[in-house]
Amino acid sequence: MTLLATPPLHAPPTPVSTGHLPDHGTVAAVLADAYQRHVDTTAGTVADYIPALATADPDAFGLALAGVDGHVTAVGHAYETFSIQSVSKAFVYALACETHGHRAVRDLIGVNATGLGFSSVMAIELHDGHPMNPLVNAGALATTALMPGASPVARWLALQNGLAAFAGRPLALDIDVYESEAATNQRNRALAHLLASYGHLDADPEETLDLYTKQCSILVTARDLAVMGATLADGGVNPVTGQQVVHPAVARDTLAVLASAGMYEHSGEWLFEIGLPAKSGVSGAVLSVAPGKGALAAWSPPLDHVGTSVRARRATEHVTRPLGLDIFASAPCTPEAHR
Ligand code: GLN
Repeated sequence: MTLLATPPLHAPPTPVSTGHLPDHGTVAAVLADAYQRHVDTTAGTVADYIPALATADPDAFGLALAGVDGHVTAVGHAYETFSIQSVSKAFVYALACETHGHRAVRDLIGVNATGLGFSSVMAIELHDGHPMNPLVNAGALATTALMPGASPVARWLALQNGLAAFAGRPLALDIDVYESEAATNQRNRALAHLLASYGHLDADPEETLDLYTKQCSILVTARDLAVMGATLADGGVNPVTGQQVVHPAVARDTLAVLASAGMYEHSGEWLFEIGLPAKSGVSGAVLSVAPGKGALAAWSPPLDHVGTSVRARRATEHVTRPLGLDIFASAPCTPEAHR
């Protein structure tokens, strides 16, 4: 079965003008302040529906900001590894768009928020069997099904190497997390088969489920996520390695869908309060991207009731305005600026 027949069709790149980050010293001071203010909070609970995640250190807290100039500022546990979980969905979507093109992926997956939780079955049923967007589990499974390759191993390597190009270094699989999730992911299995029953999954459901479970178990650090996000902020070019990982239009499309659905049923609230496209994951990471400027990765395992890291959310709130990251904020144009 092949649902995608059209070749990739990318919109021409559009010019961007979104200003600059403050100097490196200011960025470091603002990040250090955010860390100090939120390191002592005891709010939130470490995810345990994937048994291996329950062993995460609740005190771990790392922040990293990568600029489009390739400079990375890191604070706290920014070099400790954790499984990428749902943050992977953003990058697998970018890889799918790179391969299949804007129109085909939009028509097949969708770009609208569901207003429901990330593993909702009802969201599929309410929308005629459509996965809705690539950032909830159903849409992520449908996106993972689009990975190119002639065999399951080839598709896994395309995905793993694709994410590694975003990070600028090879990325390993956490076998314990993978096996733990594989043994307990009945709900994702149900989502994959439900999509397949509607003809909305472009590959075998069991193989897709396995590939998706592997993608969620890839090990990253907060620093890696910051560089991965900065690649989306930099027209698809990894600002550390200089590699063009995806087309500029793909980076743009990925950020647009992150803005609409990256924080699940709280995406509107997140955009309103923080003003940045972002993606959360149950291992405690939140990655926020400021187009043309850079990306902030915040990581700490304890989560709130929607599955967003409490410290990551608070630290992100703390730094957005002082660093001028909010994409909706503008200052009135002064008469001098017109001259
Ligand atoms: N692997 C997790 C799952 O499928 C990812 C969820 C998340 O990070 N929000 O449930």
